[in-house]
Amino acid sequence: MKYETVIGLEIHCELKTKTKIFCGCATGFGADPNTHVCPVCLGLPGVLPVVNRQVVNYAIKAGLATNCEINGYSKFDRKNYYYPDLPKNFQTSQFDLPIAEHGWVDIDTEAGKKRIRLTRIHMEEDAGKLVHSGTTIKDSASSNVDYNRTGVPLLEIVSEPDMSSAEEARAYMEKIKTIMEYIDVSNCRMEEGNLRADINVSLRPVGSDVLGTRTEMKNINSFKALEDAINYEIERQTEVLEDGGHIIQETRTWDPERGITLSMRSKEEAHDYRYMPEPDLPPIVTSAEEIETIRKELPELPDARRSRLMEEAGLSAYDAGIITSSRAMAEYYDAITATGADAKLAANWLMGDLAKNLNAEGKTIEESPVDAKRLGEMILLISKGTISSKIGKTVFKEMWTSPDAPEKIVADKGLVQITDTKEIEDIVDRVIAANAKAVEDYRGGNKKAIGALVGQVMKQSKGKANPQMVNELLTKKLG
Ligand code: ADP
Ligand code: ZN
Ligand code: MG
Repeated sequence: MKYETVIGLEIHCELKTKTKIFCGCATGFGADPNTHVCPVCLGLPGVLPVVNRQVVNYAIKAGLATNCEINGYSKFDRKNYYYPDLPKNFQTSQFDLPIAEHGWVDIDTEAGKKRIRLTRIHMEEDAGKLVHSGTTIKDSASSNVDYNRTGVPLLEIVSEPDMSSAEEARAYMEKIKTIMEYIDVSNCRMEEGNLRADINVSLRPVGSDVLGTRTEMKNINSFKALEDAINYEIERQTEVLEDGGHIIQETRTWDPERGITLSMRSKEEAHDYRYMPEPDLPPIVTSAEEIETIRKELPELPDARRSRLMEEAGLSAYDAGIITSSRAMAEYYDAITATGADAKLAANWLMGDLAKNLNAEGKTIEESPVDAKRLGEMILLISKGTISSKIGKTVFKEMWTSPDAPEKIVADKGLVQITDTKEIEDIVDRVIAANAKAVEDYRGGNKKAIGALVGQVMKQSKGKANPQMVNELLTKKLG
């Protein structure tokens, strides 16, 4: 039997509000344990929560950016369970009236564009963090709890089971991350847990329209872990089914060290959350006007930006896709072209030398020592013929460690391209005289031999001769 994979993701996205969802405590990451707490987020008796309206606005923004319908009438519910990181013994979340529903995003697959439907987006509070003294819970002498994260606002973005491979799940999660970055509602730092996914995976016979039994892997916070965990789970489930067994609906954990998933708890042990309406919070009512105001604040989103770069700048779908995959990169690109620099050259330098240098030093584009304006000015020097693109690389290298304008670097280092015919001609004559073999080959019909001669001229001019003039002069003199 051939099986096909079915995947649905529940993505948790931490919002970048200054304060928590129901109290005035700060949300910052990395503070000393239990310093961002108060009676409200610690769930002490008698306190009353107040909704941070910024959370609602961010949630609506996220819903609109993912083509959801926004529910003008929405409410909070209590999800009851006991765990030490949850001081109230319930999580304030949303159940039957989430803030946003019925959305979609498009992803690129090998077979073309694919639409992934979003079931819903709802708001909820994050739980605290258990800190174990050992590396595993078993060898820990003690476990401590840090409530700083308790009450940090989260969006839960639930997809329909529309993905059918690890690559598609990754592309979907990347798309959600990019959109959340563009609309600026989350820092989206996966390594800090700003963005994490619960992955639901099942198999079914090819062609069947009935869903198979799924397993769920929680709190995956890197793209690599997401792909590895899914691929492992596909293999494991295939083996179970091929051996005539049944998949048990259960929660499994992904062990990145061993590269396997392990059973945590089965459905029988699953919690009954006893959802109930939150009596301490009024319903969230948002008027159509308020929703439209937020819609108007939306920036140009990744797909639209990508289409624009393809149409206006003539970039390939691939290049435009890479450039718009991060808002910072897309803005950097627009800032290069704003200097008047050529669109394609801008893309090449951005994805080439700039990306290479940033990668080598582990820097983000915001930390780039060469800003978009200076890079644009350098590209203009190439387009004007002041320097060759080869010399451009030298200038770029220099710009990386010097704050000087590219014109100044070119002038100080004497890198201006030689366009003086006489000067180039002298070098060409010298090279022809000194390379009898290549000249003979060329005249004997091996036209490729000219390459070596061009190379010699460029070398003797320290890369400064105008390559087109060198070619023309050589062809004329050898012809
Ligand atoms: P919960 O995990 O809270 O029980 P749901 O039943 O709504 O919630 O499912 C959560 C996620 O699991 C959704 O993203 C959904 O698309 C996905 N999902 C549900 N059934 C399957 C299945 N059989 N195979 C793969 N994914 C599934
Ligand atoms: Zn608090
Ligand atoms: Mg789930």
